[in-house]
Amino acid sequence: MEEGDLQREILCIMYFGKFGGRFVPETLLPALEELERAFYKAKKSRKFISLWKYYLREYAGRPTPLYFAENASRVLGLKLYIKREDLLHTGAHKINNTIGQCLLAKMILKKRRIIAETGAGQHGVATATACALLGLNCVVYMGQKDVRRQEINVLRMRLLGAEVIPVSSGSQTLKDAINEALRDWITNVDTTHYVIGSVVGPHPFPQMVSFFQSIIGEEAKMQILKAEGRYPDFVVACVGGGSNAMGIFKAFCKNRNVKLIGVEAAGDGKTHSASLTYGMPGVFHGTKTYLIQDEDGQVLPPHSIAPGLDYPAVGPEHSFFNDEGIASYYAVDDNSAIEGFEFLARTEGIIPALEPAHAMSWIIKNSKELKNKIVVLNLSGRGDKDMYIYREYVGNFKSQV
Ligand SMILES: *Cc1c(COP(=O)(O)O)cnc(C)c1O
Repeated sequence: MEEGDLQREILCIMYFGKFGGRFVPETLLPALEELERAFYKAKKSRKFISLWKYYLREYAGRPTPLYFAENASRVLGLKLYIKREDLLHTGAHKINNTIGQCLLAKMILKKRRIIAETGAGQHGVATATACALLGLNCVVYMGQKDVRRQEINVLRMRLLGAEVIPVSSGSQTLKDAINEALRDWITNVDTTHYVIGSVVGPHPFPQMVSFFQSIIGEEAKMQILKAEGRYPDFVVACVGGGSNAMGIFKAFCKNRNVKLIGVEAAGDGKTHSASLTYGMPGVFHGTKTYLIQDEDGQVLPPHSIAPGLDYPAVGPEHSFFNDEGIASYYAVDDNSAIEGFEFLARTEGIIPALEPAHAMSWIIKNSKELKNKIVVLNLSGRGDKDMYIYREYVGNFKSQV
C-alpha cells in the first residue's frame, strides 16, 4: 500500500465526510492513538466481547424487549414497537457504553483511573456504576451549577464511590466540565481513561461509543424480523449527543426502505439544543460537527426540558447522516415532549424519560403520515428521574390557567 493510500484510509475512518476528526492539543494525540489501537484490539478479542456481553446480560439486563404497544398503536393508527432500553439497570442505554469503556480501560489499556464529565449527572452515574462493578477509581467533573441542580445524582455518584469535582470556571455547566476533564486527561494520561458518554468528542470516541451502543439496533433488527417478518418503515430516536439514536440506526442504515428519524430538542422557543436543525458546522469537544453558536462562533448555552438533550453539539456521524440524507432530523419543543410523556404513561403505563418523550411526540404529530406503518421507537430511558421536572411543569401550567 502506498503511503498516500494508508493516509487516506485512516482519514476515511477518522472522518465522516467532512465531519469528525481530532481537534485536540497535541499532547493528547498519543492517548487517542493508544485508545484507537485498544478499541480495535477489543473489538477483535473474543474474550473482551464475551465478557462485555456477559455483563450486559447478567448485570444490565440485556436483551431488552421490543414491545408491541397495542394501545398506543390503536390510538395512533399505526404499529408501534418500543425498544425498552428503559428497563436496563440504571434506567437508560448509557450503561451499554460505560461498561464497554470501563472494561476496555481495565482489560486492554490496563488503566484503573476513570474520569468522566457530566451535565445532568446521568452519564456520571452510569460511569460510577460501571466503575463500582469493575473495581475502578472514578472521578466525575460537573459544573458547579449542575452540582446544585442535580443534588440527588451527585449523592448517587458519591454513594457509588466516585469523587465528584465541581467546576466553578466559566458558565459552571457541562461545557466547563468537559474542559476540566480534558485538562485532567492531559495531565494523567498514563494512568487514566476518559469515558465520554455519547458519540461525540475526538476520534475514536464517536466510533467506539457507536459500537458499544449498536447492540440496541442489532437486537431490535432480530426482534422486528421475528415479530413482523420484515424491516420497519420508520425507526425514531431522540438525539442529544446521538448515542441511543446511532445505536439503533446502525443496524438499519444500509436498508434504504427504513426511514431513520432523529428528534432533537427545540426547547422553550427561546433557547434549544437542536444542533442539526438550527445549528452550523464548527469545532466543539475535539470534533468537527454541527453545533449551536452565535455569529462569532461562540457556543451558545443549550436548553431542553430533557436534561440529557442539553448538549450544544451532536455526534459527527449524525452531521454526516444529515448532510447525506441517510437520516432525517426534526426538532420538537418542551411542551410537545410533555405530551409524549403523558401519552405513553396513559396509554401504555410506561413513564418514559423526557428525552425519548421527544421522539414519542414526533410520532404522535406525524401519525397521519405514519398511518398503518411499522414504527420502532427507541425508548432510551425511564422517566422516574424526571418527576421533579414534571411536577414543576404541571405547577407552572396550573398557575397559568
Ligand atoms: C443521556 C440520555 C439521552 C441523550 O444522549 P444520546 O447520546 O443522544 O443518546 C437520551 N435519553 C436518555 C434516557 C438519556 O439518559
